[in-house]
Amino acid sequence: MKVMKFGGTSVGSPERMKEVTALVTKFNEPVFVVLSAMSGTTNSLVEISDYLYKKNPDGANEVINRLEQKYDKHVDELYAKDETKAQTREFLKSEFDYLRSFTKELFTSFEEKSIVAQGEMMSTNMVVNYMNEIGIKAVLLNALDFMRTDKNAEPDPVYIKEKLSALMKEHEGVQVFLTQGFICRNAYGEIDNLQRGGSDYTASLIGAAIGADEIQIWTDIDGMHNNDPRVVDGTKPVHHLHFEEAAELAYFGAKILHPTCVQPAKYAGIPVRLLNTMDPEAEGTTISNKTEYGKIKAIAAKDNITAIKIKSSRMLLATGFLRKVFEIFESYQTPIDMVCTSEVGVSMSIDNSAHLGEIVDELKKYGTVTVDTNMCIICVVGDLDWSNVGFETIALDALKDIPVRMVSYGGSNYNISFLIREEDKKRALQKLSDTIFK
Ligand code: ADP
Ligand code: ASP
Ligand code: MG
Repeated sequence: MKVMKFGGTSVGSPERMKEVTALVTKFNEPVFVVLSAMSGTTNSLVEISDYLYKKNPDGANEVINRLEQKYDKHVDELYAKDETKAQTREFLKSEFDYLRSFTKELFTSFEEKSIVAQGEMMSTNMVVNYMNEIGIKAVLLNALDFMRTDKNAEPDPVYIKEKLSALMKEHEGVQVFLTQGFICRNAYGEIDNLQRGGSDYTASLIGAAIGADEIQIWTDIDGMHNNDPRVVDGTKPVHHLHFEEAAELAYFGAKILHPTCVQPAKYAGIPVRLLNTMDPEAEGTTISNKTEYGKIKAIAAKDNITAIKIKSSRMLLATGFLRKVFEIFESYQTPIDMVCTSEVGVSMSIDNSAHLGEIVDELKKYGTVTVDTNMCIICVVGDLDWSNVGFETIALDALKDIPVRMVSYGGSNYNISFLIREEDKKRALQKLSDTIFK
């Protein structure tokens, strides 16, 4: 069975919902479809929550009313039968009444999670009603009934597999199984989510749970491009990526794929394909266990990075110094991305600076600390095994006019990363593209 996930733009209008329906019903076997919220909806739900945190129910109601009007128009365009229109309108009314109910209550992150979950609830309901209206045997499985995280906020694959297979058994002979991406329940049974962009993760978790033969991520571009198309001109799709290469690119900024999506598919050995809803015949990108030897594949960039350097001639060579440094970051739940060491100092980069002040204060006990903000990690990905002589030189040469704060090479066989100033990002990405993919 294939798992097919459609992102926000792919279900962003009634027209697109009809195209998705055509795409998922051309197979002779059942498919499992994961949908995001219609594009813009999750952002609106976050906006509503922000108003409610700030105790501004009028602001929240204004966004709710605007969203409701938009959805009302979609109903007219999507369905042919009055009966389906009435049924969907009734569902949407209950959704918007539910959103309005929060304007009268105490507002915490618990309420926020319930609110942001409603985008996927609405899109899936609209699409399943459309499929049923045109005679497709489609069933909507509520993700809140099987998608669950454990006490560490990690998905619980055993629970997911058990629940999902029991639910699917109840619906023999169904052509399309449909569910919401992004949303789940946590270990306490509360509504939660897999983080923004997390529908890709849902698709991968479901793929692994049902032993799918392929996980397809349908979006608005023809696969993973060799550089960020939002920043660099003339980028091209990369047709094959190794799981590790895809993971590096996703983690270091290639938005097309959520970084968490790679792991479940990789462990289950299921290929992931990135495909374009706007151009379904395009080859896209296939992510699998195959390495294409001797090739640099793509470049990605991650913004909002902070670099922290601690210099200590006295302590660094002492056993346990690095452990002490890393423990400080761990105690503030702040992951480190890049690390470079020398005899007198260690530099690290982080992308979450929520506890920067506390971390710096604690590090000062061990040496002199310097902080550089507004930095950016540039990650060059491909077969960067150290036996490939000269590959790192090509990347360094492309950056010869740009100040480089840190270089990380040898941590994996698939990447070399550079830390530069955010203001140099565009120039660096363009230079790397021009040099490597000329
Ligand atoms: P969806 O809503 O379908 O999940 P996303 O917006 O999350 O879609 O991801 C698709 C977007 O990712 C593209 O429109 C593109 O602008 C952006 N993107 C960033 N880096 C890359 C890359 N290297 N290759 C392709 N797309 C990329
Ligand atoms: N709708 C959610 C978001 O906008 C999840 C997703 O689309 O993957 O982040
Ligand atoms: Mg996405």
